[in-house]
Amino acid sequence: MEKLEQIYEGKAKKVFKTDDENLYIVSYKDDATAFNGLKKGTIVGKGVINNKMSNMMMQLLEKHGVKTHYVKELSDRDTLVKKVSIVPLEVIIRNVSAGSFSKHYGVEEGIVFDEPTIEFSYKNDELGDPLLNAYHALALKLATKEEIETIKTMAFKVNEVLTEYFKGLNIRLVDFKLEFGRLPSGEIVLADEISPDTCRLWDLTTNEKLDKDRFRRDMGGVEDAYNEVMKRLTSK
Ligand code: ADP
Ligand code: UDP
Repeated sequence: MEKLEQIYEGKAKKVFKTDDENLYIVSYKDDATAFNGLKKGTIVGKGVINNKMSNMMMQLLEKHGVKTHYVKELSDRDTLVKKVSIVPLEVIIRNVSAGSFSKHYGVEEGIVFDEPTIEFSYKNDELGDPLLNAYHALALKLATKEEIETIKTMAFKVNEVLTEYFKGLNIRLVDFKLEFGRLPSGEIVLADEISPDTCRLWDLTTNEKLDKDRFRRDMGGVEDAYNEVMKRLTSK
């Protein structure tokens, strides 16, 4: 399958048409951004790692009954996916306090929750991805009630599967962001990516950060962290 016209270039990926109108090719870049594009940089090799990791996660989730957009890995950076109409919601699941949760509610990072939390933000760069609840999403017609219920159920299922899987790699899945899309049939599938760009991953023993927070917070060792995650994923 060949890349045809580029239809979109985002912050981390490019999206191409193919000769099948129902399929896209996504191409992962090394570009990194944070704080809604205010901070820009490069994480060498990130595109390859995010592509491969995301594809491994999507295949694992499919095995556990979660429908995804994944079709086939084409190369180090390129993957064939089902074309979806993206539901403009960033769905965030948290197991442990960190990042904006800690900031909003004035609590330290690292508090382990009894139950995971879910929150939505409106995927809209101009507005800075504002937080909203399910009623707001309905009012804005971003999704139907049924779609929101399906998305919630799927997101918690993803959390169960991935939490267990990462435990086996001695990694704590702190939080992550998911995106969902609609197939032409209307069916909701998991789309976009699952990678150290979109998850907080802490070493279970040392709490060392193995994710994009190293870039966001200028902690150094960014490439090493991505490589370490990949090493654990592939040595299992
Ligand atoms: P952003 O748009 O936030 O800068 P990316 O650089 O990751 O993000 O760009 C990838 C874009 O492709 C995102 O807008 C994402 O919602 C979209 N996307 C992901 N998977 C699919 C898919 N299967 N079909 C259509 N669009 C997709
Ligand atoms: N996240 C993401 N894209 C976004 C916002 C958040 O992938 O646009 C991920 C982020 O990597 C983290 C989780 O969602 O794993 C929760 O992020 P948070 O709300 O704490 O925001 P941040 O601290 O990144 O501003």
